[in-house]
Amino acid sequence: MSVEAKNGLHPRNRFRTRYDFPQLIACSPPMAAWVKPNAHGEHSIDFADPQAVKALNQALLKQAYGLQHWDIPPGYLCPPIPGRSDYIHHLADLISARHGPEVRVLDIGTGANCIYPLIGACEYGWSFVGAEVDSVALRWAKKLVASNPSVAGLIECRPQPSATKCFQGVIQAGERFDLTMCNPPFHASAAEATAGNQRKLRNLGGKKDGLNFGGKAGELWCEGGELAFIRRMIEESVGFATNCGWFTTLVSKSDHLPRLQKTLRQMKADEVRVIEMAQGQKKSRFLAWRFGKHPAP
Ligand code: SAH
Repeated sequence: MSVEAKNGLHPRNRFRTRYDFPQLIACSPPMAAWVKPNAHGEHSIDFADPQAVKALNQALLKQAYGLQHWDIPPGYLCPPIPGRSDYIHHLADLISARHGPEVRVLDIGTGANCIYPLIGACEYGWSFVGAEVDSVALRWAKKLVASNPSVAGLIECRPQPSATKCFQGVIQAGERFDLTMCNPPFHASAAEATAGNQRKLRNLGGKKDGLNFGGKAGELWCEGGELAFIRRMIEESVGFATNCGWFTTLVSKSDHLPRLQKTLRQMKADEVRVIEMAQGQKKSRFLAWRFGKHPAP
């Protein structure tokens, strides 16, 4: 097996090395239909084809974690597993890599794919609450969790009744979370989401312009885009300071950071960190903040 590392991923990320396609096919035979030689004559898949990426994800989740059932409804977001895992591992670093179900994590916008709770439960044994506004996605996520008995006891999916709230309506009185996390809807309109999708497809060399890469409109956009969504989250977090340890969220545009850091100063967050992540050329980051005095780790 090739051990060529994928540049920049977290050292504990088990998807750092190149995919071993013959082994993935052995683990998940339907994968065979999508594996073809690439321009260099190596086994690969068409990463611009959501169906191929879905088959890859099913094989990876089976091989890495023994998860037998993972799927998404037609048109819903198909997450890249290595990148999603990286957020989980960097979160673990924030809490000194503590393991076990007493570590409680709130995933805001868990999606139909429920990917963060699945990875976090498998990697660290953490317990999760996945909150979701989209009722189709929520129902799907619940079904996914129930069909994987190894993690079913660790993951609960709850409805978020309001698209402009993150914590209210989900966190119960006196409930405590060590971490909150979020991959926010980042576009400001449905039109922007469609344009972004097509750009992504072109970058991947896809020729399927007009075809949805994966992601329902509601998954990809919200009023005011990412900046407004995260600002609302920061403002709301003040009222949940005693319920949660670290609040965190992905920030897709680094240009948004100064304004978000300003909001955090206004809200008097006691500690703020920007955690940079990278996968090859692709850079991403999440913002983390907390309130209250904490002993040095
Ligand atoms: N976590 C998944 C899905 C991210 S897409 C992944 O990383 O692949 C963003 C998700 O947030 C969508 O499923 C959308 O329906 C949901 N969402 C949008 N606003 C929300 C809110 N205020 N509370 C909870 N979920 C929300």
